[in-house]
Amino acid sequence: MANIAFFGLGNMGGPMAANLIKSGHQVTVYDLFPEAVEKLVALGAKTAETPALIVQNSDIVISMLPAGKHVFDLYLGNEGLIQVLKEGTLVIDSSTIDSATSIKTAQGLQSKNIHFIDAPVSGGVAGATAGTLSFMVGGTKQNFETAKSILDVMGKNIFHAGNVGAGQVAKACNNMLLSILMVGTSEALQLGIDNGLDPKVLSEIMSNSSGSNWTLDVYNPCPGVSEGVPSSNNYQGGFMTDLMAKDLGLAMDTAVQSHSSTPLGGLSRSLYALHQRAGNGKKDFSSIFEQFSAKS
Ligand code: NAD
Repeated sequence: MANIAFFGLGNMGGPMAANLIKSGHQVTVYDLFPEAVEKLVALGAKTAETPALIVQNSDIVISMLPAGKHVFDLYLGNEGLIQVLKEGTLVIDSSTIDSATSIKTAQGLQSKNIHFIDAPVSGGVAGATAGTLSFMVGGTKQNFETAKSILDVMGKNIFHAGNVGAGQVAKACNNMLLSILMVGTSEALQLGIDNGLDPKVLSEIMSNSSGSNWTLDVYNPCPGVSEGVPSSNNYQGGFMTDLMAKDLGLAMDTAVQSHSSTPLGGLSRSLYALHQRAGNGKKDFSSIFEQFSAKS
């Protein structure tokens, strides 16, 4: 069993750390919010006063933080962990951030022979709790193999996307496509409704025809079509519009860096930004349907 230090015990990191504890790993945890730390300590985690003490005995460090600046500061900032981590430690950053920051962090840590992989996830809070996340890993084959047994505890599908940064690029591509599908499904459903169709009947037809896709079949955005999805619960739970808007910003930054043309991704980012500005940031991202269904 490994000695693991875990930073960032929010909606995702909390249940991920809990699964590591349940599987018998020795986990030492840290968050800026003491209540988040206390919850994990109650499950069997250890904690300590400072980040430096947290990593004192660890072979593996995992971070699940809000954005790139938090990740860079944790490892390479003024009081960064680079000053205290043992040679040969493996850092697994599962935060969703820009690939450029992952690469910069990996290079900085490598100067002290500390290994780094980016391992962003898909599957949301439900997947984090159930231990069924998908991990998209960027890093060397050797570091991927070392991390795999740990990631297996928190996830179901563990993919090696390529070198450091590739996990973040895969995540950006996936979520850009997901948002485009959600917008397309929403406008198609509303077009049918406006022309007298029952959205349940239309969904059944399209799900069994060439329009079939995950946002229509599994995560239908029209209230009342499917049970147990956010659209049938006032768009509560699920994956917040704020997070989708963040991920679309990362996808657009990636596209600028690589001179890629992403017309539908750009349009989708604008639609999600408008939806956010209209006060819907905390609702599930399928609530974009309301932009099409609203009565004038
Ligand atoms: P969150 O805001 O709930 O949790 C982030 C936690 O990090 C907070 O508890 C905060 O106090 C802590 N933190 C910030 N700086 C810290 C530091 N220096 N040391 C220790 N703790 C620190 O966010 P979340 O929903 O758990 O998301 C975490 C990451 O996962 C984000 O990058 C997000 O984009 C990504 N993600 C989220 C979801 C989701 O459905 N929530 C899904 C996939 C990916």
